[in-house]
Amino acid sequence: MRIKAPGLIDIHSHLRDPGFEYKEDIQSGSLAALTGGYTTIVCMANTSPVLDTPERIRAQIKRFETLPARLCQAAAATIGQQGRELTDFAALKSAGAAAISDDGQAILDAKVMYDALQAAKAVGLPLMTHSEDARIPGRGAAAEEYMVARDLTLAKYADAPVHIQHVTTAKSADLIRQAKRGGTAVTCETCAHYFMFTEDLRRVKGAIAKVFPPLRTQRDVEAIIEALADGTIDIIATDHAPHSREEKARDWDSAPGGMIGLETTFAASLTALYHSGALTLPQLLAKFTDNPRELLGLPKTDDYIEFDSDEEWTLTEADIKSKSSNSPFIGITFRGRIKETVCVK
Ligand SMILES: [Zn+2]
Repeated sequence: MRIKAPGLIDIHSHLRDPGFEYKEDIQSGSLAALTGGYTTIVCMANTSPVLDTPERIRAQIKRFETLPARLCQAAAATIGQQGRELTDFAALKSAGAAAISDDGQAILDAKVMYDALQAAKAVGLPLMTHSEDARIPGRGAAAEEYMVARDLTLAKYADAPVHIQHVTTAKSADLIRQAKRGGTAVTCETCAHYFMFTEDLRRVKGAIAKVFPPLRTQRDVEAIIEALADGTIDIIATDHAPHSREEKARDWDSAPGGMIGLETTFAASLTALYHSGALTLPQLLAKFTDNPRELLGLPKTDDYIEFDSDEEWTLTEADIKSKSSNSPFIGITFRGRIKETVCVK
């Protein structure tokens, strides 16, 4: 069936520009976004240089004007994303930042995180956190879960909203479910790879399967789908993270973490969540449209997509518009495909 819906919104993309344009740039990233049904995307700030000053945010947003998709820019929460000294949230907001995030890494110092929560609340920008402590060996489930617990606790005591990025484990989802019931102003996201794959993907795909937080167990996959269905997880994001062929050809320990996702996240979600019966179509669409729009405080637009909810197709490398092709979905057959994306910018 051919279905029309609002343009999709991705709150978590890495377009690698400036600094790593060999992986992706704002032009190629925009084309990848439109291919996947996205008309609005939020770019993360872990570029080179890190986007941590109003001048840099202003210059970046200026570059977005002529692009065929609506790009928004997140600003770093701490100077150089070093986790020590907060950036000037008010000035960053005035410069046009859409959100505050040190994504790529956690703010490890609890006092800095507490101050960031209060400062973000004061200026009315969403604070998005990569709640995972990279110092814990193997970055197992505990590395994520204790940081999620910490951030929920801090948000409650700061009486400030928090958005937790890429939730991956059963325990993390349950902590967030309990916090929501207790009145903490928490929203969160997961990504398609966390409900489509388990850690076993490493055996098949090697370093293509390396991502942070890591892929988890079958039990976690089931719990993430349940948390999407019961509304604990508000948003499905891409965490689009391009890396070159050479980088991903390295051995497991030296390859960088991350996967591209702009072109496949919606199709993967239709396949694994809608056609499985876990979510209704309105429930699924809300996680790509209304929920991210409300988090960002964006106005409604006339942007729209048309998709075939039943078309079966298999992703090949030749389909990929992104500059990088580090997708775990190559060779996977989806059910549901974007047919048209109209951004009326
Ligand atoms: Zn992250």
